[in-house]
Amino acid sequence: MTLEAIDVHHGYGNETVFEGVSLSVTPGEVVGIIGPSGVGKSTLLRLLALFDAPNRGSVSYKNDDVWQVSEQRRLEYRRQIGMVFQEASLFDASVRRNAEYGLRVRQTWADRLRHELSSIVGKTNGTGDAIEALDTVGLREKVDQDASSLSGGEAQRVAFARALAYEPDILLLDEPTSDLDPRNTAVIEEAVLEAKKRGIGVVIATHDMHQAERIADRVAVLLENDIIEVGDTETIFENPTDERTRKFIEGELVY
Ligand code: ADP
Repeated sequence: MTLEAIDVHHGYGNETVFEGVSLSVTPGEVVGIIGPSGVGKSTLLRLLALFDAPNRGSVSYKNDDVWQVSEQRRLEYRRQIGMVFQEASLFDASVRRNAEYGLRVRQTWADRLRHELSSIVGKTNGTGDAIEALDTVGLREKVDQDASSLSGGEAQRVAFARALAYEPDILLLDEPTSDLDPRNTAVIEEAVLEAKKRGIGVVIATHDMHQAERIADRVAVLLENDIIEVGDTETIFENPTDERTRKFIEGELVY
């Protein structure tokens, strides 16, 4: 179930973003990527989300090189990897509909048929996971509210619930709390730890290194086109090997 970028080189046009970056995530661990703005955190997440193919190197999932397998297999893999972006984009519909959306995408036609039939005969509505996910982010009581009436922080919590309801094996989070106040940030961080408890492998990119310190098991430091160091969180923050990591953490390296 490991998702791994292996010696990845990537860039845009003439601009190099990475020259040989490797990073893995396994079920039930939280990996933080820290680094200044513009260093390539989103780019790395997009590669791990299988949105883009690396210019060189490979991305492996379940021991397959994902750009060597059939498109159908890659699509299947992509469905097992959830992503939450910095800004929630919700539909003009109820909170429940928004949280269910990923489920509907994931369901096969047979599941959908069963779901339609069960709602006709008034049995289970088939949305248990979405409600449970909304519960995880403390929004169960808002299921019938229109998503457009939510605050920015609540909207992001719904986006997170949508990703959780989907029951991904891997969850990629791109600066998910950078626009949020401390309370909403704390709810999302708790939900990340809950996802980890459920065995989901989480990668969170953040420019807030204290967030990584609070919730990550391992931290990768992305600086100067490279992951200069990756290790368990305590070591990275207390006893880093690379002098640049220490300077970055202590705020001496300004980019
Ligand atoms: P971060 O997430 O760490 O802020 P990004 O991955 O967004 O960094 O960006 C890394 C570099 O790649 C930046 O210099 C950015 O301008 C550039 N970049 C990102 N996306 C694109 C794109 N689609 N086209 C061209 N350049 C891009």
